Amino acid sequence: MRGMFTKMNVVLLGSPGVGKGTYAKLLSERFGIPHISTGDMLREAVSKGSPAGKKAKEYIDSGKLVPDETVNHLLSERLSRPDCAQGFLLDGYPRTIKQAQMLENMTRISKVINFEAEDATIMERLGGRLTCRECGAIYHIKNMPPKKQGICDICGGELYQREDQKPSAITQRLDTYRKETQPLIEHYKNRGMLIVIDANFPYEEVEKIIKPAARAISED
Ligand code: AMP
Repeated sequence: MRGMFTKMNVVLLGSPGVGKGTYAKLLSERFGIPHISTGDMLREAVSKGSPAGKKAKEYIDSGKLVPDETVNHLLSERLSRPDCAQGFLLDGYPRTIKQAQMLENMTRISKVINFEAEDATIMERLGGRLTCRECGAIYHIKNMPPKKQGICDICGGELYQREDQKPSAITQRLDTYRKETQPLIEHYKNRGMLIVIDANFPYEEVEKIIKPAARAISED
């Protein structure tokens, strides 16, 4: 088991559509450490109409990366809050080698988990996504439908298809991922930090993904 004072500073990697957000949420409940999603933070900034949100909106909607300056500012503020004292699960950052270097300057990362799934699985998962307008919970028309059509199980908010969940933005997001983010796998592998988890299981069997990931996180 890990020592009492070791922080669980975990980076979660994986293609858009692999289910990272869902796994992060489950792991966050299991370990009692926050799930920090730069995508969620940026979307919140957009919905609030803050200066960061105004800068980020067109990049997010088209599936391109938001400029580092904007994301780094939000992230470093978030990582300095007290709830990160025991660690965190970082979802959506870093997305480039440069961001990985910037993260190294902000904090020490203890583990990097890469969730892997086949292309066909990724395309299917990306296709039918729905998001709650109020709390950001994620559903899938076929794989993880809400109890009541169009309504969030958690908060009763309206479910909608995000702009970046539409086909042209999906193509752009996958392209950005391959060009900018995939090199991170090699980067962390070379540093002996990478743990690969097979994510080719349907949602009913999500424990087959969460269990090995949780084991990897808690091992010294
Ligand atoms: P996600 O929910 O992680 O798929 O992020 C949604 C969108 O937010 C991405 O397509 C980017 O436009 C933006 N975004 C999230 N994280 C980052 C990041 N680390 N760097 C740049 N843009 C980001």
